[in-house]
Amino acid sequence: MNKKVIIVGGVAGGASAAARLRRLDETAEIILIEKGEHISFANCGLPYYIGEVIKEKDKLLVQTPQKMKQRFNIDVRVNNKVTKIDPENRTVEILNIVENKVYTETYDKLILSPGAEPIKPRLSGIESAKIFTLRNIPDTYRIKDYVDEAHPKRAIIVGAGFIGLEVAENLHQRGVNVTVVELADHVIGPLDFEMAAIVHQHLKVKDVELYLKDAVEAFEDNGANISVKLSSGRILKADMVIMGIGVKPEAQLAAAAGLTIGKTGGIFVDEYLQTSNADIYAVGDAIEVKDFVSGNQALIPLAGPANKQGRIAANNICGLKEKFEGTQGTSIVKIFDLTVAVSGNSERILKRNGIEYEKSFTHTASHASYYPGAIPMSIKLLFGKNDGKLLGAQIVGYDGVDKRIDVISTAMRAGMTVFDLEKLELSYAPPYSSAKDPVNIAGFTAANIIKKDSIIFHWDEVAGIDLKTGLLVDVREPQEFQLGTLTGAINIPLDEIRTRTTELSKDKTIYLFCAVGLRGYLAGRILMQKGYNDVRNLSGGYKLYHMAIATQSNEDVFDYDELNNTTQTTHAKYEAAAIKYDDAKTYTTSLGSATSSANVKLQLDACGLQCPGPIMTVFNAIKTIDYNDILEVKATDPAFQEDIKTWCKSTGNELLSVTFENNTFTARIRKGIQREDASAMQRKNNKSMIVFSNDLDKAIASFIIANGAASMGRKVTMFFTFWGLNILRNSNATGVKKDFISKMFGVMMPKGSKKLSLSKMNMAGIGPKMIRGLMNKKNIFSLESLIDQAQKSGIEFVACNMSMDLMGIKKEELIDGVTIGGVASFLGSAEESDMSLFI
Ligand code: FAD
Repeated sequence: MNKKVIIVGGVAGGASAAARLRRLDETAEIILIEKGEHISFANCGLPYYIGEVIKEKDKLLVQTPQKMKQRFNIDVRVNNKVTKIDPENRTVEILNIVENKVYTETYDKLILSPGAEPIKPRLSGIESAKIFTLRNIPDTYRIKDYVDEAHPKRAIIVGAGFIGLEVAENLHQRGVNVTVVELADHVIGPLDFEMAAIVHQHLKVKDVELYLKDAVEAFEDNGANISVKLSSGRILKADMVIMGIGVKPEAQLAAAAGLTIGKTGGIFVDEYLQTSNADIYAVGDAIEVKDFVSGNQALIPLAGPANKQGRIAANNICGLKEKFEGTQGTSIVKIFDLTVAVSGNSERILKRNGIEYEKSFTHTASHASYYPGAIPMSIKLLFGKNDGKLLGAQIVGYDGVDKRIDVISTAMRAGMTVFDLEKLELSYAPPYSSAKDPVNIAGFTAANIIKKDSIIFHWDEVAGIDLKTGLLVDVREPQEFQLGTLTGAINIPLDEIRTRTTELSKDKTIYLFCAVGLRGYLAGRILMQKGYNDVRNLSGGYKLYHMAIATQSNEDVFDYDELNNTTQTTHAKYEAAAIKYDDAKTYTTSLGSATSSANVKLQLDACGLQCPGPIMTVFNAIKTIDYNDILEVKATDPAFQEDIKTWCKSTGNELLSVTFENNTFTARIRKGIQREDASAMQRKNNKSMIVFSNDLDKAIASFIIANGAASMGRKVTMFFTFWGLNILRNSNATGVKKDFISKMFGVMMPKGSKKLSLSKMNMAGIGPKMIRGLMNKKNIFSLESLIDQAQKSGIEFVACNMSMDLMGIKKEELIDGVTIGGVASFLGSAEESDMSLFI
């Protein structure tokens, strides 16, 4: 006799099982029961329909009952709900929702794929019509219609998981100001804190208000809006709320039929996906699965596993004995411009399961850094402390994250170790990767840790370092050190470490660190081979540390009443400006050659420049355009998004938008006018510097600081005295009349910026060449262009009259634009300053 199979639930797991059954058995009677209106719809695409990224409704429907009947000969019954299972008699009770009729069907085999439902906690006011959940197509239409018709100005998303953040992005895309409230200390549960920190900073850049470690306690629908009370005591007001605090397995039907329910609340199944009743299989979000890493039972609601399980259940019903070997939780999500992906266990889960692990962090470019569009991604690997077995991976970046997580998740599935990642031969050409792919680099780094080639310490251990027994050594370049370092750290750039070991006591633990971990590792190798026994390197470098210790939440951004009084939302305003701008005639001009006339718009390309390059580019360009004109600048440095926001805020310019496309950030800035009080404030914020040294490194540091301050709109005066005057000497100046002593002095001293030596490790002129080469490679402006930009930025160069006299330096020998002044001119500028530096 032909077998009769009933499937409960017609989407991911159910529809897969039905189609596979038919492919294996043309004679079986297959009935697919779905309580909703649609089958096989694209759950994962729903948020993007709300955001109008997916524009047509039809695109969400992967299959229709008619097509399923036609192609697979499956009896699909939508608007039918299975209300009871009788395992003894192998029957199900079904309610025809439209006709309100109950009927019974017999089965030989039953597959349950009822999914999971959004959790709606029993909070006061939860029934308000302004509170939504998102699971299916009707939910999606409800939300979209509300956005289209009620034009909400502010939405509160409760829960910062995958769905919550996808909805946040899509509502933001529709011009709604978005607030996210999350109970945990970080977003995206499967990420660990420090990796989520990267996401927090990105949400800030996108103007998403974020409350962490806070929970919703109650709602109150006030008619016009809804108040949301948080456990911190805050009361937020919004026009709509989306609940995204997770899902729970739809296991009631199975439980009522006496099937075993696991401790997690999911339907218990064996490795063949059979429930405690041999004729009933269960798949998808409703079941508890074996966690592939720990072997423990877990709830991991994802579309990939649901589809595969549907297929396996069908195979087993047709006699092909196939096991489901567990779920790794490999998942990926787009959060605005970022891509976040995970596979395997996080540290939190490993700790909970008592699994010993080690971890590594790497920050690598998505492809060869010399090919346009390369942008960094951060990879965290979790692996067995001794054997290096892959246990988990987390990647946050902009480009190429998807293929790296898939490579690692495949390796994990194959039981590989970090040593295997080192060996993987991965495709390479400059637009796609590097000869050492980010996955290889992650493997090298992790393998070095296990082999003890590198002893590491982590960002959360920094605060506990005792500086009596330990020494923090920043091995980055001086200009990087100037921009921020760990408290108590000394600066010995990597290239000087061999010659400056006298500064490093062998009795102390040496804690090395650099930007991302590579230079710290190299310095560690040098010191270990020089007999230092206790040398450690900060894993993930200062970049990771800095992200992790920054303020994570982004509170009190929106005032509801203020939002409501404005006719347009902040984002709608951005859009309007952007549209107006697009309509206007635009001119492309290179930096410095722009003319200042009404309606001139500038487009600048700062791609490839590192901080503070892009900001300085903006600063210089904005001076060349008129009030209300719009400047568009493109950059690839991820720090630019945050920097440009801060810069606009502090300089009174208006940031219209920052977009991200083709690995490039594009900021649009409307030139603002300085208010009276702002200029008064500005005077007190002036900066003055005495440049005494003519060491190349110190000169670079001076000009970086000066340019940075100038780009923030501060007036800067640089007072060059004694050896510092040599920086200003014009190398082409000839025929200057001087006495013999002055001539001798002039010959012995460096003639201009290109002749300067390094304060340390000069190595007969090799050191300066190396540092200049490094700056060039890293797209940091040369000293000459820093001087040039300083002049263009209006920084005042004052050459000390008295020192010039003493050293026999004449005005004609100096570069153009230098004022000759006495100490009074310095003191005058210092009085107007809140910072005076002596370099
Ligand atoms: P579902 O696909 O939910 O199907 C269950 C069906 O059973 C439902 O249609 C329900 O109406 C029906 N049903 C329940 N009880 C009965 C009954 N008694 N009688 C008849 N019918 C019944 N996963 C990813 O991997 N990647 C993503 O990007 C992603 N994005 C998502 C975005 C959203 C908005 C949502 C809601 C989910 C997303 N998921 C994603 C999760 C993914 O959709 C689920 O893991 C997957 O659909 C689970 O498949 P399932 O068959 O178990 O359940």
